[in-house]
Amino acid sequence: MTTRDAPGPAMPLDLLIVGAGFSGLYMLHKARTMGLSALVLEAAPSVGGTWYANRYPGARVDIQSLEYSFSFSEALQQEWPWTERYAAQPELLRYANHVADRFDLRPDIRLNTRMTSGRFDDLAQRWQVGSTGADGEPQAWHARFVVLASGPLSTPNTPAFPGLETFAGPVLHTAVWPHAPVDFRGRHVGVVGTGSSAVQVIPRIAQQASSVTVFQRTAAYVVPAHNGPLDRAQEARVKADYPGFRARNRQMRTGFGCELPANPASALAASPEARAAAFEARWKVGGFGLLGAYADLMTDLQANALAAEFVRGKIRDTVHDPATAALLSPHQPIGCKRLCVADGYYETFNRSNVHLVDVSGEPVEAITPKGLRAGGREHAFDTLVLATGFDAVTGTLMRLDLRGRGGLRIQDKWRDGPLNYLGLTVAGFPNLFNIAGAGSTSAFTSVIVSIEHHVDWIAECIAWMDAQGHATIEATDAAERSWVAHVNAVAAHTVFLSCNSWYLGANIPGKPRMFMPLAGGFPAYAERCAAVADQGYAGFALG
Ligand SMILES: Cc1cc2nc3c(=O)[nH]c(=O)nc-3n(C[C@H](O)[C@H](O)[C@H](O)COP(=O)(O)OP(=O)(O)OC[C@H]3O[C@@H](n4cnc5c(N)ncnc54)[C@H](O)[C@@H]3O)c2cc1C
Repeated sequence: MTTRDAPGPAMPLDLLIVGAGFSGLYMLHKARTMGLSALVLEAAPSVGGTWYANRYPGARVDIQSLEYSFSFSEALQQEWPWTERYAAQPELLRYANHVADRFDLRPDIRLNTRMTSGRFDDLAQRWQVGSTGADGEPQAWHARFVVLASGPLSTPNTPAFPGLETFAGPVLHTAVWPHAPVDFRGRHVGVVGTGSSAVQVIPRIAQQASSVTVFQRTAAYVVPAHNGPLDRAQEARVKADYPGFRARNRQMRTGFGCELPANPASALAASPEARAAAFEARWKVGGFGLLGAYADLMTDLQANALAAEFVRGKIRDTVHDPATAALLSPHQPIGCKRLCVADGYYETFNRSNVHLVDVSGEPVEAITPKGLRAGGREHAFDTLVLATGFDAVTGTLMRLDLRGRGGLRIQDKWRDGPLNYLGLTVAGFPNLFNIAGAGSTSAFTSVIVSIEHHVDWIAECIAWMDAQGHATIEATDAAERSWVAHVNAVAAHTVFLSCNSWYLGANIPGKPRMFMPLAGGFPAYAERCAAVADQGYAGFALG
């Protein structure tokens, strides 16, 4: 079969790819260039993944567009004209659609098609995948390999607030935002959540609504993005040597930020004046660079506290009401939860129509028809916005009926946390790859850098298997155990274990507490993955 034929359910595929976000799009393109037959199943009616679903006002990247974009095609990266330093959701969605069109990917993407089950057939050494199409009819697919490109943040988290269904007005979740513009004029809005999506949406709603009441469980550190039109001189400079720029970024721990590299010095060794100047300089640049002001900010709680206090000082300087400023000031280590990047968040609390309610000590008791009750107090509003994040990293896979060798269920395999090898594979699940999953550095990088790395690694692996005549590849239990031990050991040398975060699964009641991402930096991780391949896929059993 050629890749240009539209495969039907009965035809065996080389690759079945789940998801048409950036991961699935690039995986499909890569498979095509290798002459493999591949098909993408996408539950949504569009490509774009994250940027199709998260269309709330203010949604945008928190990594600069010149760095949060594909590098695999020089023509693509030269021709795409980002308009802003940090692209907004509509532009990112246009970009995903452009990629799908430019590389003629659509014939091999089935939209409105949700993968529901996957079973590895031990005898046939193939995956049997079940899906449901737009008409609700079940479909069956057979494939040598399954690539889960289903997204680290693609299953929204809606807390089980008692009474949620009784709320009389509209309930909006940032991750499943309506397609028609929402008119907040004259509305009294309650927003639950203060994470990355909340800090982007709250300032925008506040500009329109009659009142906004923000319910805060944990205060967020928010650094400015200083977004604006893309500096054309910067664009020209980057585009003059885009491959070099990308290569330099791949040498960064985060896969981006080569123009503002991390300072190798210790914050504890610097004088207070020097520290203040260093933090201030990075605050002025905006973005995640603040955490690179010193080498020990993410590894030493004392050093971290200095950066945290710097941001608390900014909050005090910005927010006029000292009591509100105090409530907005976080106490967990900075960066322990994902650092938020947004413009105008703290300033929004100077508006007379914006109120902050601290629900850290007195959690939300119930949603009522007319608002929310917390700490025995009723708070009235007529529109509820849930900015409550995601069942991150594992949530999407744990909702699938996914069974590996001998019928092993993913829910049983991951009962105590997402065991994996290299953040790409799972023992007991042969010929299954997971892009941007647990055990990889993707959550701490510009995710597109990680996606490209994962896709390229998977493609090389399949090409090598075909050249060597192997039908199956499967992580060994020993390799998996030692990888998970490595992920935990690296985390133990950081500040990440000292707060509750989605990295730990702590935002979902009952989710096993396991630090999911690898905090060791992208270059070391990529080196390790390359070394495994160079050693004939060490740690894998080949069949
Ligand atoms: C609001 C928001 C802002 C973000 N900003 C940044 C940022 O600035 N920088 C950064 O690096 N990362 C950011 N991220 C992370 C972001 O998820 C990744 O950057 C990237 O979009 C992930 O691409 P993906 O293709 O792996 O997953 P997604 O874009 O999530 O795509 C996965 C796709 O799989 C589909 N799918 C899932 N399950 C199934 C199934 N069973 N059957 C069929 N289809 C299925 C989903 O519908 C979805 O379309 C952000 C995430 C969010 C939510």
